Amino acid sequence: MGNIVPILVLVIVSSYFFFWNDTFQPETIRNQRVLVTGASSGIGEELAYQYSRLGARLVITARREELLRKVASKCKELGASSVELVAADMTVQEDRDKVIRFTGERLGGLDYLILNHATLRHAAWTGHRENLTFLHQDMEVNFVSYVDLASKAIDMLSASSGHIGVVSSVCGKMSCSLMTQYTASKFALHGFFTSLRQELNARRVNVTITMCVLGLIDTENAMRLIKENLPTMDTWIAAPAQDCAQAIVEQVGLGVYEMHFPRMAMFYDYVHRFFPEFLENYAGRQIHQFQK
Ligand code: NDP
Repeated sequence: MGNIVPILVLVIVSSYFFFWNDTFQPETIRNQRVLVTGASSGIGEELAYQYSRLGARLVITARREELLRKVASKCKELGASSVELVAADMTVQEDRDKVIRFTGERLGGLDYLILNHATLRHAAWTGHRENLTFLHQDMEVNFVSYVDLASKAIDMLSASSGHIGVVSSVCGKMSCSLMTQYTASKFALHGFFTSLRQELNARRVNVTITMCVLGLIDTENAMRLIKENLPTMDTWIAAPAQDCAQAIVEQVGLGVYEMHFPRMAMFYDYVHRFFPEFLENYAGRQIHQFQK
């Protein structure tokens, strides 16, 4: 009988953490100051629209200014409190400085930093010079620039008890053949940002960091890459970008440590954690079949 009490307590406490789901309050986003990177297309564009519907004050950035203008005008129609855009190339350090300076000046601070931009690339790793060139480029865009932007924004975020959303991928948690550079850059994000979160917690800096682990999402660029490189793959499994953006806005708003979208991404993550060899071999064979 004496043993049953601690077991019961353990079951109740673990059930609480397993089933407990904080609910997102959409009204908390109204007038919040949000910076979305990679907002000229795909998931970033949808993120800008989601924040706009909730009445946020936005700064959006990417390289293609014309597309940003179109996104900004739709953001206004959807209800954004304000929208500013700044064209910037995330490979250029001065541009990254410019984006954070611009955000601080126009918004007077920052509540949400949504790091989403990335180079998506399929290429077999042969070890040739071209692979190495792409590796440097992809690490700069997909990883170093995230670290740089977050570092420059941390004082503003700390002042507002703000939030960082880091858009990653299942390729940041498990092996993805034919995407070695991309996978390396996404793994690096998890290593850096979870360690940074630990440091911030220890220093009692009240900034949440949410790692967004995404599966296949229906964006023009991702679908084009699949068509070109994995022509026999079914793309119906790709989840809508709008639903993905909505899930990111909610989970980053709640400050959860890690979110998965769609649910299948969580399944892959957990299967890989417990049966890495099985999943690595199975997924590897599948990917190579899709090339034919
Ligand atoms: P897109 O290619 O549609 O969007 C990428 C965005 O990043 C664009 O706005 C692009 O704008 C911007 N960008 C790219 N390079 C640079 C650069 N050097 N400087 C500044 N901005 C840049 O991709 P998705 O929307 O599909 O992906 C968005 C995020 O989601 C990425 O982090 C990706 O890794 C992640 N993800 C996507 C998945 C999918 O299936 N779609 C799956 C898993 C993760 P511009 O060209 O105008 O600069």
